[in-house]
Amino acid sequence: MPDDLLTSRNDGPDIILYWDVREFLREGGASRLKECAACQQYFVQVTARVTRFCSQPCRLKANPTRKANNATYQHRHREARRRRDLRRIDDAKKQYRATWGAAPTVSDLLKALDMSRHRWNALCQWEEQTHGQQRVTHLH
Ligand SMILES: [Zn+2]
Repeated sequence: MPDDLLTSRNDGPDIILYWDVREFLREGGASRLKECAACQQYFVQVTARVTRFCSQPCRLKANPTRKANNATYQHRHREARRRRDLRRIDDAKKQYRATWGAAPTVSDLLKALDMSRHRWNALCQWEEQTHGQQRVTHLH
């Protein structure tokens, strides 16, 4: 394309687009202009971090195990958190008994553990579903 066409923006849409792309490339945009590895559309990488996909859906489409891995991760995370909470409850029960010679109430435990009633109920429910009865959350 001759240079005089690039000096004016009062041209047709194609010329303007070409002019904008030239400006973009001149400002170092070429290194940020990427082709999506999933849908082959061009996109501009916004941050300095190297991106291979134009969007989150394309990223997940290209790597379906990612979703599954995330589910597995969340499952393990919840399991570890539950085990930790139940252990804390067990310890607090023993300590209360050793100190006061009696079983604590739910309120006593929640206060000692700084645990929400909602969390407590979820743990009771999990024990009932898993073992058919409350175990660690059983207070008598
Ligand atoms: Zn894409």
